[in-house]
Amino acid sequence: MRDIVLLKCSDYNVLKIENKIREGFELLGGEEFLKKLIPYNSKVLLKPNMLSVEKAGSPVITHYAFFEAVIRVLKDYSKDITFGDSPGFGDSKKVAENAGLLKVANKYDVKFDNFTKSVHVKSDESILCRSWTLAKAAYESDVLITLPKLKTHAMAYYTGAIKNQFGCVPGTLKAQWHTRMPNANNFCKMLLDLNKILHTDFAILDGIVAMEGNGPKSGTPYNLNSIIMGESLTAVDSTAVKLIGYDDPLEIPFLKEAYENKWDDVLEKDINVLGEKIENMAVKDFEKCRKGGSFYFINPTVTNFLRDIIAPDPVVIKDKCIGCERCLNVCPEKPKVIKMVKYKDKYIPKWDMKNCIRCFCCQELCPKGAIETKYSVLGRILNKNRR
Ligand code: SF4
Ligand code: SF4
Repeated sequence: MRDIVLLKCSDYNVLKIENKIREGFELLGGEEFLKKLIPYNSKVLLKPNMLSVEKAGSPVITHYAFFEAVIRVLKDYSKDITFGDSPGFGDSKKVAENAGLLKVANKYDVKFDNFTKSVHVKSDESILCRSWTLAKAAYESDVLITLPKLKTHAMAYYTGAIKNQFGCVPGTLKAQWHTRMPNANNFCKMLLDLNKILHTDFAILDGIVAMEGNGPKSGTPYNLNSIIMGESLTAVDSTAVKLIGYDDPLEIPFLKEAYENKWDDVLEKDINVLGEKIENMAVKDFEKCRKGGSFYFINPTVTNFLRDIIAPDPVVIKDKCIGCERCLNVCPEKPKVIKMVKYKDKYIPKWDMKNCIRCFCCQELCPKGAIETKYSVLGRILNKNRR
């Protein structure tokens, strides 16, 4: 049985969030819990979600006020706090600056690490992936606290506490994992292995303003008014997906993998929710994302032929596209699956779907939200009962 805390918080007032987080730690055991989590002056690494260059307060990334509130609580326990991430695209420092995180960090003497220094490590405890290149600052921290944003995700349906650590894989190595793990069951096992090797110690999830629809980058803000905290990443994510309307957390591929591999507790019966009750906080009208490579998740032995028919395709919204070529640049496949073709006075992407592994990096990182995922007619029929 895993304890997590669910808290209600309706805006990004720093002091209000700070009080809520303090309340959360109190429910988990107060000083005793915190001193065990953060032995005196240990090296703490905060991992916010810094997906790409966004304006401060954007629902794509962890809110700077949330980040500040966490620091205000943790600085009583360690003077050695660093934050960092390796965003999907763009310079990490610029992302941190734009997001307002760097300014907050400077105010509290929190260091920044751009996750470009890496270490090679091996693990015998993995389900699947034993050899890793990881951001040194994340791997060598004593305490890793993840600060994810609650969002929809085109490939994984949902992103929160578990998936946030994918940003601890430096730079373009992330793309290589997509190519090495085109089967999403394996991709999910990789995410679990990653958290095991990093030893992610605690999650404080920013669900005050979540993101619904075309996530993880081009969705719509949703006032979910929630903070979830706990040591168990699966319990935090399982509770988060309940809030946004999933009856069964095993609908989320990496939670299913965690459950089947006995990685950690996932089911509601195994989670002790402190603070607010899920039924009082859950919403019914959150636009979920079930357009991901769901077929891969159901049947890992799918042939390429079936995949092409059943899995959704990325499609461009021509008028939104500005021809920046970011989709082309982030595609991990070699040769590239995208080529730019002329449309009116600009160039827009065109996909070679026979070779596309449906990792949706192009959709995830398009700066204009100009890429959506779309099923074929057969794909729609086969996935109908999952909507
Ligand atoms: S689809 Fe998006 S990423 Fe690709 S060229 Fe157009 S705007 Fe840029
Ligand atoms: S085209 Fe998009 S979805 Fe297909 S492999 Fe490239 S980045 Fe992934």
